[in-house]
Amino acid sequence: MVQNKLCPRCKRVLPLEEFTFDKRTKTGRTSFCKKCNSKMHKEWYAKPQNKKWNYDRSQKWKQEHPIVEWASDIIQSHKASGYKIKFSARALSDFATNNQSCWLCGGAVIFGAGRGNPLSATIDRIFNEEILTLANINLAHFACNAGKSNSSLQEFVQRCKDTVTLHQNAA
Ligand SMILES: [Zn+2]
Ligand SMILES: [Zn+2]
Repeated sequence: MVQNKLCPRCKRVLPLEEFTFDKRTKTGRTSFCKKCNSKMHKEWYAKPQNKKWNYDRSQKWKQEHPIVEWASDIIQSHKASGYKIKFSARALSDFATNNQSCWLCGGAVIFGAGRGNPLSATIDRIFNEEILTLANINLAHFACNAGKSNSSLQEFVQRCKDTVTLHQNAA
């Protein structure tokens, strides 16, 4: 059963497949064809006032979803440093939401505070792998991760112990 429909914008009579599904309409399809719809979207986003609206909306979304935003930043920066990432931003954000603490010191991490904050969240590679999966990373404070750097956990713990031994009377 082939049904055709007129697109009132481009005035073409097109097969129904050329129209997106839309449950709210009588025909079950959008009134304008797919091509017209995508053109209209592009035109809409090209207008300065709409660009700003869209930018504001995405900034607001980022503020309301700091962990998702954090996760995509982490993935981008690690990819830029040459790591292979085997998880999506969404998966990392779920992982972070379920953890929320630094695996090195146990303290709560902060999302969306930026790298300048030592308590900001980052990911630590457990065995310094080049290919990252959710099984070989942990959440850590920027400061704790930087302190551990490329050492093993054992070496890092030893340095922490040495630090405590040397300075325990200072606190
Ligand atoms: Zn059309
Ligand atoms: Zn920490």
